Amino acid sequence: MQLLWLKRNLRLQDSEPLFYSMKEFRTAGPVLPLYIHDPGLINQPDVSRQHQVFLQETLTELASELHNLGGQLLEAVGDSVAVLNRIHQVRPLTKIWTHRETTQHSQYLRDKQVRVWCQSAGVELVEMEQNGIARGSQEPLPFAEYFTRCVNQPLRDPTGNDLSRRFAPLPFSGCAPGDIPAAAGDDKPLRQKGGRAAAQEALEGFFTIRNLNRYPFQLSSPNTAWDGCSRMSTWLAYGVVSDREVYQHVDRVISKGSEILDAGGFQRLQDRGRFYLDRLSWRRQYLQTFENHPEFEFDCILPQFSGVREAQYDEALFQAWKTGRTGFPFIDAAMGCLRQTGWINMRLRATVVSFATMNLWLPTTKVAEFLATEFLDYDPGIHHIIHQIVAGSSAFRGIMVYDPVKQGLDHDPKGQFIHRWVPELADLGADVHDLSKTAGYLSVKATKHRCLPYPQALVDHQATALHAKRRIHELKKGITTPMATVPDARDSSPQMGLF
Ligand SMILES: Cc1cc2nc3c(=O)[nH]c(=O)nc-3n(C[C@H](O)[C@H](O)[C@H](O)COP(=O)(O)OP(=O)(O)OC[C@H]3O[C@@H](n4cnc5c(N)ncnc54)[C@H](O)[C@@H]3O)c2cc1C
Repeated sequence: MQLLWLKRNLRLQDSEPLFYSMKEFRTAGPVLPLYIHDPGLINQPDVSRQHQVFLQETLTELASELHNLGGQLLEAVGDSVAVLNRIHQVRPLTKIWTHRETTQHSQYLRDKQVRVWCQSAGVELVEMEQNGIARGSQEPLPFAEYFTRCVNQPLRDPTGNDLSRRFAPLPFSGCAPGDIPAAAGDDKPLRQKGGRAAAQEALEGFFTIRNLNRYPFQLSSPNTAWDGCSRMSTWLAYGVVSDREVYQHVDRVISKGSEILDAGGFQRLQDRGRFYLDRLSWRRQYLQTFENHPEFEFDCILPQFSGVREAQYDEALFQAWKTGRTGFPFIDAAMGCLRQTGWINMRLRATVVSFATMNLWLPTTKVAEFLATEFLDYDPGIHHIIHQIVAGSSAFRGIMVYDPVKQGLDHDPKGQFIHRWVPELADLGADVHDLSKTAGYLSVKATKHRCLPYPQALVDHQATALHAKRRIHELKKGITTPMATVPDARDSSPQMGLF
């Protein structure tokens, strides 16, 4: 029997492991799709309940898709190697098909143990490339070449076929929902829902000429980014859609534009399409950097930053930041929004991380670990690399400190975003950006809910920014060129700023 081992590759469409395992069923045996709920991984500090529920929603839909093809999904609880061994005892395995993952240390170790087990059990493990990430001695393709290849590859979709002869029956019954240990934290009421149908709806909904044209002007403000960004990150992070599918959607919009727009309109659309693709190219570069340097999950990219922030760690500052009680309305609104929805736009992410690591001088790994649990789209390869870029501990040229007040004034001038997510300031109008007015303020709504008055600013943001810049400048003395592995994430259009 063969296994189709689903990890962060939770789809049947554009799935090479599914396609090739099905193709080999005559020689290597029927195929059993498997997902393992491994308690050792669920209990990791960067995993949270929202991730788990999103995943479960996705698996439930995937099981029903498999059922329509004539197969059954085995969901098992236990140590990954122990589960594989148990299956192998009941129905000997010939091959395990899965995708390669660029992932956090805990899952990297799991993959390593599985590789060792496969060798000792005489089972062939086939880990197929995804996201165009090169491993070992392979060289990654330049982005333009990779994009062209993806756009020209046919996407295989098994929907509508009867593949029942090729699927294996369950070797034993799957786990019950109650057998799966719950991850830490609470689910988020307003997060994206799991499952391929929601992903497809988002794909079809976003990729239109109008949306791609508007994208560069919508992504910076939290008031417009919610609908103006593609919101593809979570589906990509879990492999519910492949990057190829996204590229093909972009390509389709551009092709349609070439048919119906005049030369000027088409040129504009191409520029905006390129602007969107830049982000996907950064995604791939960050993933490749992390693939080559998984140690950046724990270690600073520049070793001279090791232990520097830790030496001045202040737990009270960390708690105030996490709970949205810093006295900086734009920061606290971001943390409030994140708590309920699991998503904020990129500029806001950079602003809260800059505030935490520059103004509050909190250790980058602590900040990154907390936000990993808060971001539904947590993707270790992207996440840990960007944290270090924002925190200044990469060899990226220039030191960025996002002014938490100016960012609010620029991107939420009327304060709607703050009013929504900081109830204490709900009726303060545009004065929400004036720290002398917000300190001690309590809106009528918040009074009814017995909230505490809004806190005073925790630090002097201008003085702390200056101090952070000086420290980083000192620590970076002597470094003149960016490391080759850290991509230059500068925006392609200068008016947009870095993020
Ligand atoms: C501190 C920090 C942490 C982040 N952590 C994550 C993370 O864990 N997972 C994650 O997917 N993204 C992360 N990002 C990148 C970015 O914020 C999100 O990808 C984006 O906000 C997701 O929304 P979207 O899908 O609507 O993006 P869109 O604006 O529609 O962009 C399209 C796609 O491009 C990719 N992308 C966009 N911006 C970036 C970027 N700056 N770097 C790399 N890829 C990008 C994503 O896959 C995204 O889905 C982080 C950014 C910062 C500043």
